[in-house]
Amino acid sequence: VMLLSAPTRDSFGSLTGRLWIVSDVTREREADRLKSEFLSIVSHELRTPLTSIMGYTELLLARDFTPGEQREFVKTVYNEANHLYQIVEDLLGVTRLEAGNVRLDRWAVSLRQIISDLTAHLSNQISGKHTMLIDIPPYLPPVYADRDKVRQVLVNLITNAVKYSPNGGEIRLTVTEHADLPPDHPKGQFVLVAISDQGIGIAPEDLPRIWERFYRVDNGNTRRIGGTGLGLSIAKALVELHGGRIWAESKLNRGSTFSFTLPVATDLVRR
Ligand code: ADP
Repeated sequence: VMLLSAPTRDSFGSLTGRLWIVSDVTREREADRLKSEFLSIVSHELRTPLTSIMGYTELLLARDFTPGEQREFVKTVYNEANHLYQIVEDLLGVTRLEAGNVRLDRWAVSLRQIISDLTAHLSNQISGKHTMLIDIPPYLPPVYADRDKVRQVLVNLITNAVKYSPNGGEIRLTVTEHADLPPDHPKGQFVLVAISDQGIGIAPEDLPRIWERFYRVDNGNTRRIGGTGLGLSIAKALVELHGGRIWAESKLNRGSTFSFTLPVATDLVRR
């Protein structure tokens, strides 16, 4: 809240008193904070891959290289362009989510299928330092969900598990049908997906804030790791659109577990 005061005068210009204006500026402050954080993160995050793309293309144009070398450079350019594309997608994603412009295309879908389709794509990202373990029960009911959106939530959480465990370790993806859900969880049948890592972890004071747009934990560990702070806010919005919940548990320097739920497709929606 901000207090403004101004002297009030009558029509002859004599002082008659003071006018107090009490205005709630927290919303404006918050909007300002988001705007400047947005600009600094986006300009930094966009500049890094762009600089690398420009450097490699300049090099390719300036000299003759063997086809093998050329291929390596073009691969780097492609990866950096891909990274840029991802950032732009995330920015468009939050904008669409906030405008309420995201419609789910929901069907009875198999989580097992979505996860196995993902593993091929993810094996490129997971370096030799990480082991990925996937644990899905033999019988799992389908969930009532939008395949692409669920895939995006999984990609965001798995990418984070890799990014924030720079020393490697185990990344475990567990799917459970009869899990103990948090007490405030909506009632009904839900499937729980948990992704745990043995990475840098999150301090208790940061834990509630990681779901905010553009929020990034700022410490020696995270500064070197790139990101826009959008992935988790997108994941949260997508899970909640499905009627599920998402939460995190973490121990600093030990690791984190991110869990989310999706409603089981009942016979009604399976028809
Ligand atoms: P980004 O990774 O682009 O910064 P996210 O929205 O995905 O943005 O995550 C927000 C913040 O939460 C990250 O900057 C990081 O500080 C923290 N975080 C997310 N996932 C993990 C994880 N698995 N381990 C430790 N910290 C994490």
